[in-house]
Amino acid sequence: MTEQCLVLIKPDAIIKHLTGDILAKLAETNLHIVGSKVVQVTKELAEEHYQHLREEKFFDELIKYIMGHYHMKSVLALVYEGDGACAKIRKCAGATNPEEAEPHSVRGKYGRITSKGIFENVVHASENPKEGEREIKLWFRPDELISTIYPTEMKEAKIEKMLWKED
Ligand code: GDP
Ligand code: MG
Repeated sequence: MTEQCLVLIKPDAIIKHLTGDILAKLAETNLHIVGSKVVQVTKELAEEHYQHLREEKFFDELIKYIMGHYHMKSVLALVYEGDGACAKIRKCAGATNPEEAEPHSVRGKYGRITSKGIFENVVHASENPKEGEREIKLWFRPDELISTIYPTEMKEAKIEKMLWKED
């Protein structure tokens, strides 16, 4: 079944210039990218994204990690689409613990556990299509994706936007 999966290339991968290698590896899944953007992750976004891990002892470090406090403040967010997208991407990404990940998976190849015990596992991938939908709606607006993957509605909204200053 066609589904979508949110992929995040995490700050440890960005600072090591691993983006190209990771995208090449993920291309082996034959899935298509339907959205992408570079994001400076706020505390609110990080905490909402990882809300299910709130009780974990590594939560505070995880929030700092995804916000870029240990590397650089940049994450590449992508939406992959296709048949069984989440399972295919997660197989390619490898196990959460980089030391347990298959050596040729993305995390097995590029991940590490730091001496402080932080899992630097280079990518995030949605666990299943339902979680994918929650995460994609959190990270992307409908007009940032090439197709309307979830129902949308027109709403009048007053939004303050940073624009280029006119001469
Ligand atoms: P994922 O779906 O494979 O990313 O794993 P989870 O959803 O369980 O965890 C989300 C993220 O939390 C992981 O990708 C890691 O960055 C981090 N994490 C998970 N388990 C641990 C752990 O035992 N220790 C540490 N330090 N971080 C962890
Ligand atoms: Mg997860």
